[in-house]
Amino acid sequence: MGSEGDEGAIGAQQELFLLFSVLSWAMELYFDLRQHKKLCQKKLPQELQGIVTEEEFLKANEYSRDKISFEMMSSGVNITATIFFYLMGGLLWMWEVSLILIKPLGFSEQNEIWQSVSFCIVLYAKSIIESAPLDLYQTFVIEERHGFNKQTLSLWFMDQVKTFFLVVVLLFPAVAGGIHIIIWGGKDFWFYIWSFCLVLVLVFQTIYPQVIQPLFNTFTPLKDGSLKSAIEDLARAHNFPLKKLFVVDGSTRSSHSNAYFYGFGNNKRVVLFDTLNLSLLGKEEKNGQDETGKSKESKSSGCKIEEIVAILGHELGHWAKAHIYKQLFVAELHLLIFFYMFGYMLHNQGPCLLCAATDLTASPQEMYAAFGFQSKRPVIIGLILFSNMGFLLLLLLLLSCSRLHSVNPVEHFVQFFQQFVTRMFEFEADRFAVEQGHGKELAAALVKISTENKSNLDPDPLWSAYNNSHPSLVERLRAMTAHASVLEARQKKSN
Ligand SMILES: [Zn+2]
Repeated sequence: MGSEGDEGAIGAQQELFLLFSVLSWAMELYFDLRQHKKLCQKKLPQELQGIVTEEEFLKANEYSRDKISFEMMSSGVNITATIFFYLMGGLLWMWEVSLILIKPLGFSEQNEIWQSVSFCIVLYAKSIIESAPLDLYQTFVIEERHGFNKQTLSLWFMDQVKTFFLVVVLLFPAVAGGIHIIIWGGKDFWFYIWSFCLVLVLVFQTIYPQVIQPLFNTFTPLKDGSLKSAIEDLARAHNFPLKKLFVVDGSTRSSHSNAYFYGFGNNKRVVLFDTLNLSLLGKEEKNGQDETGKSKESKSSGCKIEEIVAILGHELGHWAKAHIYKQLFVAELHLLIFFYMFGYMLHNQGPCLLCAATDLTASPQEMYAAFGFQSKRPVIIGLILFSNMGFLLLLLLLLSCSRLHSVNPVEHFVQFFQQFVTRMFEFEADRFAVEQGHGKELAAALVKISTENKSNLDPDPLWSAYNNSHPSLVERLRAMTAHASVLEARQKKSN
């Protein structure tokens, strides 16, 4: 084999890897710049007139502007660090460090599974060291400046320590099991690893709310009262199998408010954030006033009972339309395709005319070699390179090419698609709430939560399509009004 040609291909692999990282970053920067420009607008959009004040609108924009400027700055730091990391041979160096760490335990480089687990821990530690200063600044400067941060430095630190150990504990069996399956499964590993991931996801979704979340937050059952009865009435009306009703102390960390439900089958739990209405949900009750909440509004979002019920009406919409299962299906399909293509790369089969003609794709050996892995080809490294690097995968996919190397460009399309699906579900859940007669209250609650959270009220559409899982307030209000008039017209017709 002519080594000159090989080295050319190897060099091109690394250059392409970095090129795609820079292109991804540039695309996101472009979206952010658009959004930043949009946030500089001073005029209240027509849809929001009479709903939020100009002052609220400007304050929300100022908060989003602060966040996005910071994001642009930190992604600039990140991309620079990434380029240096790969150019300096960081991947190989970390792989070697992970071996040094397991040697005292009696393992050698023959134990790829153990070395991979060690490698992931090293990689995770690196990411914490990189992100901690940025996270600290975000929490204690930006969130603080806009009045959202409720964390103390020690709480933040404890969260980091807990998360680290938790990730290590969860990562260990997942990585070890995954690598084992990929090695053991041969050419059909993609199906086995996918099944393994599906089981992991289901297990994680079961233990997350019951075992993991309580490590970070306190969940207390909602006390008896008019709110509880109203929610139970709602659940009964829709045959929603509500087993437990909790209040979570969202206010200890942040005052962004929310509500959600979880649990499979006939065992559903609803969680309300105390920030929806502190006093209604049993916090900071003042002067022993009644808890009907009709007239009393606290320092939180101050949602009234009927508004909280309307929010749950929206959540029930997610349940009635089986959104969780549909989302799981989309995510699992994505994963199946991902692993299938990774299998193609790892067990590269046959030549490809297009690749040979362009000389821009390489064999797996060449791709590993580009990052310093000359003799060894660890699965975990292949997985990292495959998911981060890319060359015209979409095109290759269309041409059913057998030499697929990476999925990064495709992942951006996947992200657009997944956000699109979630947004459709949000609209659908809103329509459900409107159909159940909660439209007005839901609109009022959304306005309260959005202004209290200083949410992005009217974002740039492209930025929003890529970054937001929820439509903006303007879009939601517009859609709800439209649906309400459709229903009204339908009713008139039938009468
Ligand atoms: Zn929703």
